Amino acid sequence: MSVDRDKLEALLKWYKQEVGENLIAALIVNREGLVMSALKGSLDQDVEEDVIGGVSALVEPVLTRITEEFSSGSFGTGTFDTEEQRFIFCEAGPEAIFVTVLNSIAMVDPIFPYAYLAAEKIARIFDGRTVSPVIPKLFTEKETTKIERKIDKLQQIKIQSGEYAFKLILGGEGGVGKTSMVHRFVEDAFQTDYKSTIGTSIMKKECDFQGLESKVRFVIWDLAGQAQFKRVRQTYLGNAEAGILVFDVTRKETFDKLEKWFNEIKEVSSTISLIVVGNKIDLEDQRVVLLEQGEELAEKLNLSYIETSAKTGENINDAFKMLALQMIKRFVFTEEV
Ligand code: GDP
Ligand code: MG
Repeated sequence: MSVDRDKLEALLKWYKQEVGENLIAALIVNREGLVMSALKGSLDQDVEEDVIGGVSALVEPVLTRITEEFSSGSFGTGTFDTEEQRFIFCEAGPEAIFVTVLNSIAMVDPIFPYAYLAAEKIARIFDGRTVSPVIPKLFTEKETTKIERKIDKLQQIKIQSGEYAFKLILGGEGGVGKTSMVHRFVEDAFQTDYKSTIGTSIMKKECDFQGLESKVRFVIWDLAGQAQFKRVRQTYLGNAEAGILVFDVTRKETFDKLEKWFNEIKEVSSTISLIVVGNKIDLEDQRVVLLEQGEELAEKLNLSYIETSAKTGENINDAFKMLALQMIKRFVFTEEV
């Protein structure tokens, strides 16, 4: 099947216009890792005259990793930082990946909605469906408050009838199992030799409900070790609609720090829906925090409590579903999105 390359090119031009000066390049790559279309940003950084060649060289090392994940079918959306560039990868239907290369100082938050939108359009172009290559202006750059409000809105984008996307974040001390929980939920896999994540990884996953037409799509932001930097944390925690506060039932100090996480998250995302999770219940003989203590804390914070094991998978789906149901109650039934 032939793809409308002119349309892909037009779309990239629109994308460049909206993303602005921090864009180094934008590429559309097929499943085999072949560049279908590429466009250079206004920055001249390291990109040669041969746009496709130059940009490919830039993206190559990262792309190899990403296409591996992509061909395994588990890939959704992700970001990846190197010293000089930030990458946003968005799955664009079954055929393609949309790659954005940004200046290392660029903020991903305001660009992410555009990337997401462009990826949806690219998927349609590959499908041969009619779609306009125009990327509309989603917000004006100068008015910060306006941006925040619009991003808020965008996180509740009604993708198709009955489908909603929300930013989900995870709070809690290092090593409690946040990344493992997300991986278990997204890929249903548990790795014992799990390397702590570099940068923030963003994944998406849908929750379906039997007997309900609504679908909740979580865009899960998983932050790695650099959580100690307040500046990074604000971007990560801000504008989130849903969050999971995790502690490790075998480490009392992770339980004691949970309220601190609660307060910090509430400070930047005051309307967020949260749940409390006590993880690692498979380590029964090492448990030091009791079920009742977990419930008591959750009650004090006015939140629901659930205990999980990312290792065995116990209650992992239920934890996310619990949150998804809260989202449905809060947005789908009460607000016109
Ligand atoms: P994070 O820092 O909160 O993201 O924690 P990770 O997901 O990286 O997990 C830290 C360590 O705990 C890793 O060695 C995991 O394999 C392990 N781990 C995570 N969840 C569980 C669990 O439910 N049970 C057990 N036994 N180990 C877990
Ligand atoms: Mg982690």
